[in-house]
Amino acid sequence: MSSSRSQGRVCDVATQLRTHVEYDRELGVLGYPRAEPRTASRPVVAASAAPRAPARAAAIARDLFAAPGLAETGSLEELRTFIGDCQRCKLAGHRTQIVFGVGNPRARLVFAGEAPGRDEDLKGEPFVGRAGQLLTEIITKGMKLRREDVYIANVIKCRPPENRNPEPDEVACCEPFLIRQLELIRPEVVVALGKFAVQTLLGTKEPITRLRGRWHDYHGIPLMPTFHPAYLLRNPADKRLVWEDIQQVMKVLGIGVARK
Ligand code: URA
Repeated sequence: MSSSRSQGRVCDVATQLRTHVEYDRELGVLGYPRAEPRTASRPVVAASAAPRAPARAAAIARDLFAAPGLAETGSLEELRTFIGDCQRCKLAGHRTQIVFGVGNPRARLVFAGEAPGRDEDLKGEPFVGRAGQLLTEIITKGMKLRREDVYIANVIKCRPPENRNPEPDEVACCEPFLIRQLELIRPEVVVALGKFAVQTLLGTKEPITRLRGRWHDYHGIPLMPTFHPAYLLRNPADKRLVWEDIQQVMKVLGIGVARK
């Protein structure tokens, strides 16, 4: 079988498994254990977070979700090489370049967005447009960190045409790369930015207004959902809520809360 056909089959299997996992989630299983976060002061996850599934389920998920060889990548560089000139989904024909992720490979904090926009597609780096400038301000002015201290990535690595929402088969092909990035970085906290990223990562249709501000579990890593910076550009009054979410993150990371 050709490698692109076998990759297509992997994506089919991933789509089926995703359906299965979503069914599990409807039954109350919200996560499969993967790696222990390094933090000593772990946040309390949302009351909706159910007990974890047995380890066997985690092994199955790891085998079937991942493209062959993905789990063997030992660094972000190896993972980037593994992704290669990706043709696994239909977004390949629309992109200028893959937007893999940027930042500290040992970051304690990862920001996960939706997908690259026009600026990101052209530059090859996530969150570099207007929304990205706001995210950078949150990191530098709010958290008093440098952009290069954290890691920034998206669920989807290629720009969807006209910035439309990514489709389920695209998520099925690409989300394993974000999961592997997180396995390699082993951050203490993930901040999920915006409705699409949050609902996709948590496998729920609950509105972000109900999900944000509470801790959730994403493959064993505490995840804080918050509004997308692009939303904040349109709704600046909600910056206050994002700041509340970020302060919770800072508390867990033991970063002093600065005055805004
Ligand atoms: N919006 C996202 O979700 N990600 C980016 O990289 C840029 C804009």
